[in-house]
Amino acid sequence: MKTVVRGVLSCEGIGIGKTFIYENRDIKIEKKHIEDSNILNEIKLLKKSIDTYKSYLKSIKKNNKEQNEILDAHLQMIDDPVIIKNAIKYVTDNYSAEYSIKMALDEAIITMNSIDDEYISLRALDYEDIKTRLIHIIQGENFLDFSNINEEVILVSDDISPSVLSSIDTKYIKGIILEKGGAKSHTALIADALNIPLIVRFEKARELIDENHLAIIDANERSIIIDPTDEILEDYKNKIARHNLKITKLKKLIQVNPKTVDGKKIGVLANIGNDLDLKNAIYNGANGVGLFRTEFLYMNMSSFPSEEFQFNTYRRTAKKLGEKPLTIRTLDIGGDKPLSYYKFKKEDNPFLGLRAIRFSLLEKDIFKIQLRAILRASIYGDIKIMLPLISQVEEVYLVKNILKECMNELDKQKISYSPNIEIGIMSETPSSVFLAKDLLKIVDFISIGTNDLNQYTLALDRGNDTIIDFYSDINPSILRCIKILIDESHRFNKQISMCGALAGNLKVTKLLLGLGLDNFSVVPSKILEVKKIIEETDINLIKEKSISVINESTNKELLDKLKEL
Ligand code: PEP
Ligand code: MG
Repeated sequence: MKTVVRGVLSCEGIGIGKTFIYENRDIKIEKKHIEDSNILNEIKLLKKSIDTYKSYLKSIKKNNKEQNEILDAHLQMIDDPVIIKNAIKYVTDNYSAEYSIKMALDEAIITMNSIDDEYISLRALDYEDIKTRLIHIIQGENFLDFSNINEEVILVSDDISPSVLSSIDTKYIKGIILEKGGAKSHTALIADALNIPLIVRFEKARELIDENHLAIIDANERSIIIDPTDEILEDYKNKIARHNLKITKLKKLIQVNPKTVDGKKIGVLANIGNDLDLKNAIYNGANGVGLFRTEFLYMNMSSFPSEEFQFNTYRRTAKKLGEKPLTIRTLDIGGDKPLSYYKFKKEDNPFLGLRAIRFSLLEKDIFKIQLRAILRASIYGDIKIMLPLISQVEEVYLVKNILKECMNELDKQKISYSPNIEIGIMSETPSSVFLAKDLLKIVDFISIGTNDLNQYTLALDRGNDTIIDFYSDINPSILRCIKILIDESHRFNKQISMCGALAGNLKVTKLLLGLGLDNFSVVPSKILEVKKIIEETDINLIKEKSISVINESTNKELLDKLKEL
């Protein structure tokens, strides 16, 4: 028996299977020049490789719903007119088709990697995947797929691309160990959606793990146990059975609209950024979407997304949710979220600068495109508009004026929209807490963005590793802000939601219920666990204690008291 512990947990879980080592094939590309007379042929070759890859993606689509989302994303990426145009330009500059594909995709990859955002740089991995596939096609290599896997395995590799993972019948994959990989890559998203345990950045995995041996992956412990003893194997089988039982119990909550023991209905909604999140949200029985992060629509593009593109996205999302609410947050860009195609002026304090609603108000034409798209989609579901980083009442008035302008334009064009669309704000600044009663007079709802509210209340950069020891989002100041927001909202007979990460922190679910929070909006994987705690909580029993928790002075005292809940 041998146990190896390392790497980073990406998807929780335990699995048992035979180790299967997968070696990626490197691509070798020469900088090959072609004659003018060959240009047309090379363009044909280039287009043919794209068509072949598209046909391949479509042919493996039937495997699994979650995987299909990723394959669709690849199909969309491969059709990016900017990339195709660039590749053709290289061919017309007398480069071979394969070299032209490499150059065009490398440019896209460099742009994505230059953006300091984990989500975007992980999309660059998808482009790497597409590049490798297209070049393999031109070089005449066969697709490597796993149709020969017909027993339960633990896949071990340096990296597995989403398209490769999608070619496997996932019922046989009991775990994945990767030497590279990002914890939130598309591969990780598939693994998460399919409940496959995944450890990434597991150095020298292929050296340390022998092929074709029975093994146990325990992703939570970042470990693999190779050739386990019978006793350990039995122990893990029991653990898997217990885990499965827990999942089965949680799954019973999918259709439940959660209520506390004393009968208060609580909404558990989802934070989403793409179709896969939406799928997971619906699968886990979300009561709607409490935060649609539209910034990803903008960050994944090479220019501002058109009204038509956004309209289609919002309409598609609203339709999938049926009668459940879709809260669309308007563009939340700037600070730590740049746009590759927009030149921000250098700012001394970008987090106090051109961010979120301020960007939209200063770039009114861009904002109007988004508002028109949201308005047009509003007749297809229960769509609400949510404004990020509101810190002054004037900002809401300005937005309302711009929204009115958009409505007038749509009226003139005889395009329908829902005139009573709800408008809410995110409370992410201390000023929005002090102004809560003024804001509540003019908006339909508040959703608490605890990530920013905490950073601005403590004046502590949430992304700065140097001061990480000072940062905790369970502290008296933010919790008292939350209490003020809840009480003010209730005074105005309005429900209050929370969509920052604190809403999904199971340590405080009870406390937030005790303080009076009405709706939680959380990442899809947390929905069922939050529902479970709600169903077990009697608010009457914890109300007073909750107040006493937030009245503690230090973080430590507060955390100690929290345990008593
Ligand atoms: C927040 O600030 O809590 C929030 C949800 O927004 P983001 O994390 O995107 O800044
Ligand atoms: Mg925020």
